[in-house]
Amino acid sequence: MEPGASDQDQDQDRDPSCQRSGYLYGEFSDPLNDSVRCSVSLTQSSLTIQRICSVPGRTRTVFNLSDCIGCRAHRGSERADVGAYFTAYFYPFKRRWMSAGLTRLRVEQCFRVALVQDPLTNLREAERWAQAIREGSQLQAPRREGVAYATVRRPCRTMILVNPHSGRGQALQLFSGHIQAMLTEASVPYTLVITEHQNHARELVRKADLSKWDALVIMSGDGLLFEVINGLMEREDWQEAMQTPLGILPGGSGNALSASVHHYSQAPPAWNEELLLSCGFLLCKGLVGSLDLVSIHLTSRQRLFSFLSLAWGFVADVDIESEKYRHVGAIRFLMGTLVRLATLRVYQGRLAYLPVTEASKLPKGSVKSNHPPSPPQHPSLCSSLPCRLMSNSSPNQTMHVTCQSLNSNCNTITNSCNNALTTKRPESQSDQKIRGPVDSLLPGLDQPVPETWTVVKDEDFVLVLAIYQSHLAEDLWTVPGAQADDGVIHLFYVTAGISRPALLRLFLAMEKGAHLACGCPYLVYEKVRALRLEPISPQGVITVDGEMVEYGPVQAQIHPGLARLICG
Ligand code: ADP
Ligand code: MG
Repeated sequence: MEPGASDQDQDQDRDPSCQRSGYLYGEFSDPLNDSVRCSVSLTQSSLTIQRICSVPGRTRTVFNLSDCIGCRAHRGSERADVGAYFTAYFYPFKRRWMSAGLTRLRVEQCFRVALVQDPLTNLREAERWAQAIREGSQLQAPRREGVAYATVRRPCRTMILVNPHSGRGQALQLFSGHIQAMLTEASVPYTLVITEHQNHARELVRKADLSKWDALVIMSGDGLLFEVINGLMEREDWQEAMQTPLGILPGGSGNALSASVHHYSQAPPAWNEELLLSCGFLLCKGLVGSLDLVSIHLTSRQRLFSFLSLAWGFVADVDIESEKYRHVGAIRFLMGTLVRLATLRVYQGRLAYLPVTEASKLPKGSVKSNHPPSPPQHPSLCSSLPCRLMSNSSPNQTMHVTCQSLNSNCNTITNSCNNALTTKRPESQSDQKIRGPVDSLLPGLDQPVPETWTVVKDEDFVLVLAIYQSHLAEDLWTVPGAQADDGVIHLFYVTAGISRPALLRLFLAMEKGAHLACGCPYLVYEKVRALRLEPISPQGVITVDGEMVEYGPVQAQIHPGLARLICG
């Protein structure tokens, strides 16, 4: 038995009835040594390889099809070779080198088929096996119990958007070094689009003919997915567009959704290239679940859609201030945290939220609601504050799409369109032209919050963080119980008075998801459906999904299952 493969009782090996009951059995040789023969049997869940030799010993290996991403049949490289081959690609969990932890590692299994002297007959047999293994591996995938998944359409025509400047500027190298080969192994046809400037991806997906794509995948940090989601929501056909499965590969310095997707697949913690391999594996498996989105209203009436977080105070400051350390990768947040701790400040503002109660539960997938906005009743939180505009949309940019052909299943397209991007000032919620579902829980930003909302008494905060995924960064497990589609905004806030060491302790504990167990009296955690934040401090930073947005009053509401996410 190889480590990572599981031992299973394979009594049906060599039993000819196996074929009748849907299993395959065959005897093939090792491509490197024809005298080494092995019996191979395929069941619905596993591939078992047994060395045929007279010496007893460790000769049996069982691979789970849930670890398999694909299988290819092919002829040999020499013309005189009458044999054909099939190669299966597995990514089982194996022990890390010099460590107790488990991680996915690539294992390739190749067999030579030489039943007869006719090469075509051998190739047909190899293809029969390859197809059976492919079909079996598509049915078997790591799933969370009790969750209904769909699968991507196959072959999955995938657009992969890469931000070459994200993280340490290595997203393209990481793609060609780790992901490109996996996509070939899994027979995923893809087109690579390298973004050229901020909002390039947003503009591209806003205008794309989505009938050509079965999945949109980004290889970057969270910022590029934020662009893609908002680009899709700006389309007239946003409801249909949001049905396009979205995928994420960690290529940035803030890879919160990648870390969350990995965590949801119930895999042991992983970072850097191991995280990339895991997300690449999940992408190739192609299971699709639901993803909650949060509709966010800014004071200028701009409306955004967010999949990760809304932050103000310490977290938002660290995110933006640590931009200058992006060359060090994900560790930039730790550096930013230490710097910000040294200049810890208090942020004044008002916070109110609609707590999760049975009554306030929204039906999953209810993207449209005919309910009128809740009547304004609460007298507080209705002031319209002066604000500083810090929107990051760039007006009048010229768009140019470049695609690089990196291998045989990568299409090459070149598409130049010189459409000026205009900085839109979206209309109010009551305006019919606004895209997206109705925010039935939110009154106008200039109206008081409803009486059913909780208004926080404190007005002095160190941070306010609304998050709707498990991870805020690769090593920050902020919401231990969160799922991509739990229909909940997880609201955290830390009030003024917390000491620097206590705040540092919270962030260090967050690596293991243990911050709530610290017993810190300044940390509050609430599950909510909607919230409003009104900063009083005249200057500050608000981020949505790690991107800086306009500073000022802001409110948000969850829309369960509005998007679809490739996950496991
Ligand atoms: P990181 O995690 O490293 O911050 P992101 O994916 O969040 O990576 O991207 C950072 C920012 O770069 C985002 O604001 C995104 O919109 C922007 N962006 C995307 N493509 C480009 C590009 N080609 N050049 C410059 N900025 C880009
Ligand atoms: Mg980012």
